[in-house]
Formats: sequence, C-alpha cells, structure tokens
Amino acid sequence: MELNFCSLSSGSSGNCYYLGNGLHGILIDAGISATSISKFLKEMDILIHSIEGILVTHNHIDHVRGLEVLSRKFNLPVFTTNKIWESILTPKKKISPDSIREIHLKQEFHLAGFDIEAFPVCHDAPETIGFHICGGEKKITITTDLGHICNTSAHYIKAANLLVIESNYDEQMLIQGKYPEFLKARINSDNGHLGNHQTSSFLADVISENLINICLAHLSQNNNTPELALNTVYKTFLDRGIILNGNQHIYVLNRNVPTGMIRF
Ligand SMILES: [Zn+2]
Ligand SMILES: [Zn+2]
Repeated sequence: MELNFCSLSSGSSGNCYYLGNGLHGILIDAGISATSISKFLKEMDILIHSIEGILVTHNHIDHVRGLEVLSRKFNLPVFTTNKIWESILTPKKKISPDSIREIHLKQEFHLAGFDIEAFPVCHDAPETIGFHICGGEKKITITTDLGHICNTSAHYIKAANLLVIESNYDEQMLIQGKYPEFLKARINSDNGHLGNHQTSSFLADVISENLINICLAHLSQNNNTPELALNTVYKTFLDRGIILNGNQHIYVLNRNVPTGMIRF
C-alpha cells in the first residue's frame, strides 16, 4: 500500500498534516482556519469527503484553530484523549458531541484503514500526544511539540519509516533573540520545544535504513530558518560519519503553505 503524506502548514502559527492511503485519509491537527484547510486540500487534489477524521495532539491554538468549524462543516469525528478533550472544550470552543471520540494512550484504534496509537510527550500543555500510524507495512510517527525525547517517544520514533519531528529553534538565535527571558526559558525547557541540535543529535543516534523520510517540523518564525534546521542535521550527520542512502530524504516543512506530497 502506498501512503501519501503532506503538511498543509507547520509551525507556531498553525499545524495541519494529511495522511492518505489512496482511498481514505486523516488529518492530524487543525491549527489553521477551516477555510485554509479546505483550500489547501483542494489545491493538493485531496477530496475533503475522503477524510475520515481528525487526530489532535494538544490544546494549543496552533493545533486547534480550525477544529470546531472543520469538524462541524464536514461532520468529521475528532480523536484525542479525555484529558486533552477537557482542555479543548470551553464555552467558546464547542465540538458537536457526535464528533467527539475518546482515545487512550498506547491503545491501538482504527480509522480510515490505519492502525493508530497515541503516545505521551513532554510539552507545556495539560496533555500532549504524538501519533504512531501504521498503514499496511508502512509506519509513520508524528511528534510536533516536545521539550525533550523521552524513552517512550524514542521507541515510536525509531519504528517510523516516515518521521515528522519538531526542529523548532536554532539555539544561538534563541539566546541572542528578542524574546523575554521567561519565554526563552520556557521554549528551551524539557517541557518546551526541541532545538535544531537536540533534534539532529537524536536523529544521528537513531537513524537506520528503515527511516526513509525525515520531515523537520514546527520551525519557529523568529528563532530559526529552514536552511539552519537542515544544515544542522547534515552537519551533525557528517561529523558522525553518517551517510544517507539514495532512498532517504530529509525535508523541512513550510510554515504557511503546503509542502508537496511525499509518497512512500
Ligand atoms: Zn505547536
Ligand atoms: Zn504546543
């Protein structure tokens, strides 16, 4: 089975990812407006009616901005844990009870022909999860907001053929940048975000020939550039003597526009 993955938007202004298997598809997060999601799907020739549900990683606005409208407009079920539901549902943000699906950490569920497991990650929300998704023999792991990589996330990351992992900030840009000290400390903490060097050195530790596509995600607008994120990985691999084979690719996901479809 060939899988199709694309990012519609990735970064602190909004996250939304698509995974399909030719017949059906799912979205992971809906952090941009429902209008933008519909427009981008159309541009990518993805039929909205082929989408069978939305998986949600946590309650931050850059992951749920379009959730309410999108799920209502297209009658889409939304899947996340009870604790994340409690943090999402407010008098201002209502999801139709018919669309609410509660999932449990590390308990496989099935949607759109995929077998899916949620796993916990460390981030400063009431609860944050990553997803490990299997379609036939192919495995993808998505983890976009995490302050450090614990053993559990490492386990799911190592199992992936396609990995979406945060590379949020360049450490020097963050230190020298204009953010207030408390915000720098928050971003840099174990419950904040992953920096380029953290992500790169972890990737160098776990890279194998099973890991075919690496997507660097959730880049900061103010504290990173796509070139810095990518070059940090290449330099780390070079320093460690790691050579990618011809099938392996590293992508940087665009912040505000879709990144072309990856078929694998
Ligand atoms: Zn985020
Ligand atoms: Zn977040």
